[in-house]
Amino acid sequence: MEIQYLGTAAAEGLPALFCDCDICRRARETGGKELRTRTQSIIDGRILIDLPPDTYTHALRYSLKLGEINHLLVTHSHMDHFFPVELIHRHEHFGHQAKGMLYVYGNEAVEKAFYDAVLIDRFKVHPLDDAVRFVRLAPFGDFTAEGYHIIPVPADHDKRETCYIYIIEKDGKCLLYGHDTGMNLSGEAWECIFSRKYDLISLDATMGMKQIDGYHMGLLDDIRFAGMLEEKGCIGKDTVKVINHFSHNGKMTHGELEAFAGEHGMIASYDGMKVSF
Ligand SMILES: [Zn+2]
Ligand SMILES: [Zn+2]
Ligand SMILES: [Zn+2]
Repeated sequence: MEIQYLGTAAAEGLPALFCDCDICRRARETGGKELRTRTQSIIDGRILIDLPPDTYTHALRYSLKLGEINHLLVTHSHMDHFFPVELIHRHEHFGHQAKGMLYVYGNEAVEKAFYDAVLIDRFKVHPLDDAVRFVRLAPFGDFTAEGYHIIPVPADHDKRETCYIYIIEKDGKCLLYGHDTGMNLSGEAWECIFSRKYDLISLDATMGMKQIDGYHMGLLDDIRFAGMLEEKGCIGKDTVKVINHFSHNGKMTHGELEAFAGEHGMIASYDGMKVSF
């Protein structure tokens, strides 16, 4: 399996849109890996995870053929993960020769955002019925898409909706995609997570060296999370451990994140990073 991190920032981007803090200023000056667009990933070039406002930029930057993608997993309805009005452009009128159906998987809040965006009056002349279809997920309601077995696991994030992190497996390989979440998961969620052995784990690192109790994780939580998985035998020395979804409020540059991650056997993601596992 291969995962490509198309964007690696939290909601405000890094540098943040309207921010002139020290981290954002340094990111603008240094450029390169210090610049982050909103979090989005793609598995084997086939399964897209999340649809941030930067999807268009990612398609240009990484030559993505989004018209050939048939499955979009959405973690939750926050704007940095789901910007649904863009889906209008998969209609034949805008997206010529887009192949087959794009199935969009998500919770009830994602479903509402989806219909609120695609059913607005000015797009009614271009109904999406033959181009995009929404599939509502239930907690632990696993399904198969293009041979990938996918389990939506309820996250510890915005309590107003059932945010999901995902377990994705294919051909004996298994990935835990953990964005966005804190560590206060339900017993059922931990049990589900502990039921697998992972080749790659991707952990929320929004808070950097800071710590909050739930909603997002910081680097110390990531170490604790990985430690718990190790204790349960879910990860081993060959498991790739990635930290991802960074905010300027975590107050760390990519260079600092990279150094910290390296000391703890982890990899700090950056935009465009590909990992095969
Ligand atoms: Zn986010
Ligand atoms: Zn800033
Ligand atoms: Zn979020």
